[in-house]
Amino acid sequence: MIMLINNLNQLSSYTNTFTFYKRTSEQYNDQAILDSVKQLVPENILKFSPNDRLKLLLNWFKNDFMKWMPKELHCKICDDNRSMSVQIIEGDSTTLRKNEIHTCDKCGSKQIFPRYAKILKIAETKIGRCSEWSILFGAILNSLSIQTRLVHDYLDHCWNESLINKSWIHVDSTLDNSVSFNNPYYYEQNWGKKYEYVLAFSANGIEDVTKDYTEQWQMVQKRRGKKDKVEVFKRIYLRA
Ligand SMILES: [Zn+2]
Repeated sequence: MIMLINNLNQLSSYTNTFTFYKRTSEQYNDQAILDSVKQLVPENILKFSPNDRLKLLLNWFKNDFMKWMPKELHCKICDDNRSMSVQIIEGDSTTLRKNEIHTCDKCGSKQIFPRYAKILKIAETKIGRCSEWSILFGAILNSLSIQTRLVHDYLDHCWNESLINKSWIHVDSTLDNSVSFNNPYYYEQNWGKKYEYVLAFSANGIEDVTKDYTEQWQMVQKRRGKKDKVEVFKRIYLRA
């Protein structure tokens, strides 16, 4: 019985996010959204050939455009490296995913980090962590006719894949430029990732891309155990 509950809890941690990824992927097919994010791209990048654009875009997005939101914030009023405590208020998967409310235990001041699901809100605020970065960067690439999707490792990171010469290539706008393109083993080699499922999302389905990101496929299979959940995931995603 306990094992069944554990399995169900584990399954729901995946499936809870499916609606969010599906709604986000659907925004990649919305021409009005794409037209709008295309306006963000500096004109000098558009002058380059499509082949050179992706690396220039990665550089611009990380170093000039987007800001990183740290997990732990410090109080702007006390200014004494005092960490703030965090409360998370859940929202919905189509507009505001959740609000992170950081409160200083000493002076009571608050900083709120809204985690938007709407691409245009992320484009307006230009700040976030890997999910906001990958959602918006994916939209920008799609707006420039570089077909791009979202990937999540179900540990603590997400990134993009772009279709280049008919292959899906790893693209991560949050990484240093030297490793942000086509370095799929980066996380396992440098962050010691122990994958179970790495999933890629499109509006019409999900794909299990774990094999592309691991040099330890047998270990991944061991973690999955006898019951591989990919087919279950696919059915749930279709209904999301
Ligand atoms: Zn304070």
